[in-house]
Amino acid sequence: ILNITDLSKTYHSAGRTLTVLNNIDFDIAAGSTNAIVGPSGSGKTTLLGLCAGLDRSSSGTVELNGINLSNLTEDQRAQVRNQYVGFIFQNFQLLPTLTALENVMVPLELRNEKNIRLRALDLLDKVGLADRGHHYPSQLSGGEQQRVSLARAFSNAPKILFADEPTGNLDAETSEKVVKLIFDLNKEAGTTLVLVTHDLELAAKTQRIIRIRGGKLVADEKTING
Ligand code: ATP
Repeated sequence: ILNITDLSKTYHSAGRTLTVLNNIDFDIAAGSTNAIVGPSGSGKTTLLGLCAGLDRSSSGTVELNGINLSNLTEDQRAQVRNQYVGFIFQNFQLLPTLTALENVMVPLELRNEKNIRLRALDLLDKVGLADRGHHYPSQLSGGEQQRVSLARAFSNAPKILFADEPTGNLDAETSEKVVKLIFDLNKEAGTTLVLVTHDLELAAKTQRIIRIRGGKLVADEKTING
């Protein structure tokens, strides 16, 4: 479902050039679960952003569900994201002026879908927050916000879910609940999962671990689940 070929990313700022990703190659199989791990600053978030079409590569290609994202405009990439991609972030990134229910409704509205409110309520129910739909993000705990963002990520029935440090801001107990939800929802929907994490225990729950160091892919191994 995801084919990364010879991918590089260079940032230019303050007259300096910084190569953050260097000739990365890997393929992700549909329905598989994968972790990207590596030291801080090694390029994991940048890599995830490129895979999800949030950003553009400097060279090389990202092919998502057979669509080459490398030559698309920002608007075209947004369309691909609406259609195929779910994303959850370490800091949740819910819209603060919208309620939990409205946050979950956004991707459905973008797709002009029907019965939006009912479907969003159903998703909130799945993450155990049916009674919190009218709460604003500031009125929810971190774990609750991450569950809302999971409901939002699954609202467009994505083929692939990208999660950037999904448990990075959560305590151990809440992390465990959120991780279980990610894997349960994933299994139920047959979604492909690509997550970035510092948590090796979480990484070991996936089928495959891709290690990045200094912008290079240094190891790519199956876990005992693989
Ligand atoms: P962490 O685990 O700490 O989140 P990471 O592996 O996800 O790190 P990235 O966030 O991908 O790493 O960043 C990789 C490098 O790219 C860092 O050195 C960072 O400073 C640099 N970088 C990221 N975004 C930009 C940008 N927009 N402009 C310039 N440099 C950037």
